[in-house]
Amino acid sequence: MANKAIKCSKMFDSQTGQVRENVVIFTEGERIAAIAPLAEARLEGYEVIDLGERFVTPGLCDCHVHLMMDGQANPSATKPYETIADWTLAALKCAHADLMAGFTSLRVVGGNGFVDEAIRDAINRGEHWGPRLMTSGAAISTTGGHADDHYSPYLNDELNTAPAIGDGPDELIKAVRYNIKHGVDMIKYMSTGGVMSRGTTVGAQQMSLEEMKAICDTAKMYGMTIATHAHGTSGIKDAIRAGVTSVEHGMLMDEEGVQLMKEHGTTLVPTLIAAERIVVKGKEIGTPDWAIAKANTVFQQATKGFKRCIEENIPIAFGTDSGTPFNFHGKQAYEFELMCRYGMTPTQALTAATKTASELMRKPDVGAIEPGRYADIVAFDGNPMEDITAMTRCSFVMKGGEVYKA
Ligand SMILES: [Zn+2]
Repeated sequence: MANKAIKCSKMFDSQTGQVRENVVIFTEGERIAAIAPLAEARLEGYEVIDLGERFVTPGLCDCHVHLMMDGQANPSATKPYETIADWTLAALKCAHADLMAGFTSLRVVGGNGFVDEAIRDAINRGEHWGPRLMTSGAAISTTGGHADDHYSPYLNDELNTAPAIGDGPDELIKAVRYNIKHGVDMIKYMSTGGVMSRGTTVGAQQMSLEEMKAICDTAKMYGMTIATHAHGTSGIKDAIRAGVTSVEHGMLMDEEGVQLMKEHGTTLVPTLIAAERIVVKGKEIGTPDWAIAKANTVFQQATKGFKRCIEENIPIAFGTDSGTPFNFHGKQAYEFELMCRYGMTPTQALTAATKTASELMRKPDVGAIEPGRYADIVAFDGNPMEDITAMTRCSFVMKGGEVYKA
């Protein structure tokens, strides 16, 4: 692989929030070697890539996706008719779409049959192309909880989800260890009901503090971070008390929840787009009425909690829940627009998808254009500092020093 010199007129520095002008990024193999002002840069011996007027950022990180869901109206509906093989092929396509949109790192928080782990390993071995994946395996849930979602007592999807369903600390500890045994990078569990699980009350807590603590303590013993799906007010607060690394969605968070986040250093992954897409598009595409009603309930409250977290300087990492209804892989940069509509500056939104995301994932090799980090570099048509929709126009993708889109 030739070493490259990438000429940038505008480059987002995620560590300072500043936009640097007229610089050259030098790569050496899969890493960034140096950054120099254009006027002083010596380009001989390098393959020169001129990004012109494009806006350059570190490869983006989406901290909440589901590769095994592809945006259809009711993800649970087709499950019984598909096999793990169908899902694997579909999931790889979703990973490709995300990379082409500028997302060089994904945190995959909930899949089945350890498909995400197989895809992650195949990409790492160079057998398939795709983004860097951090995966959780199946989301751990209680009986009838948000991840125990097939509803019909006559269906048996033991192969896919049963090991991640448990009640009481002992069964949940077993579920954590079962996922770790199969090579997950992190743990995800469901604290409360959700929008897309039929029969769950979105605000209802589904796991006791004692159960959550058993999951978190076990995960930490293995050096893992913990993400929890939590919409409901009490479920969010018990999850923070139990020691989760991040609250996902956090849509019905109250003021006490905000203060607990602050006290415990918990990160919020807001996924505004997931609820907004169902609110705006659900009826038209045929999402079940019960799901639309729940999305409406949570979305209004979510924008208020989001604003409070910004005001209180709670770490907020970019995540989209890509794969939920009408929330397609490769189209998730719309979340940047929502983050700005509901209270962030463009700089804050870009920081959420770079610096804060890499910190949440404990991946110091990504999230910034700095010597020593991976040469994950992407560029957009337009200037997001003036028009945030530019983030939906990705026109250059480099991952590990290799160009995937130009
Ligand atoms: Zn999700």
